[in-house]
Amino acid sequence: MFKLLLLSSAVLSSQLPNADADFRQLKARLESYGFRVTIAIPPSFDLPNQQGDFLRRTVRKPYGVLNAASKSIWINPIVFELGNSNAVLIHEAVHAAQFCAGNGNIQTIGLDIEPIKQAQPYFKRYVDVHSQAVEKEAYAVQTQPDSYELARSLLDRHCQ
Ligand SMILES: [Zn+2]
Repeated sequence: MFKLLLLSSAVLSSQLPNADADFRQLKARLESYGFRVTIAIPPSFDLPNQQGDFLRRTVRKPYGVLNAASKSIWINPIVFELGNSNAVLIHEAVHAAQFCAGNGNIQTIGLDIEPIKQAQPYFKRYVDVHSQAVEKEAYAVQTQPDSYELARSLLDRHCQ
């Protein structure tokens, strides 16, 4: 009980629990391009339709969401516990670059890189071909060894 109290007060006292310098810098960069980045469980949006295998996943809140209408990004605080906060922010940064490239409509930016094979189920689950294409780009960047630099340069190229 005491431990639990300590833990929750630690989380409350810091807006970015366990966020490292890379995370903070990429977040600040997104904000400099006018995106609002909130560390909170994403509100329910009409997420793109996903196939049956992944229906179970739709019950769970996503790790990250970009809502184009409000130019807002939500990062689910659970990613700090899971240790994948940078990957999730990088993924959403690619969507932000796609948003800038499409002048407010998320569209593909034409990357000549492929996601790793293991990432295929994550974008192939989208029923809509457009969603599949934009997700494929986000996963392609996210799974590169230089994903951080790549996401940053895509942001600069399309949002500056
Ligand atoms: Zn995505």
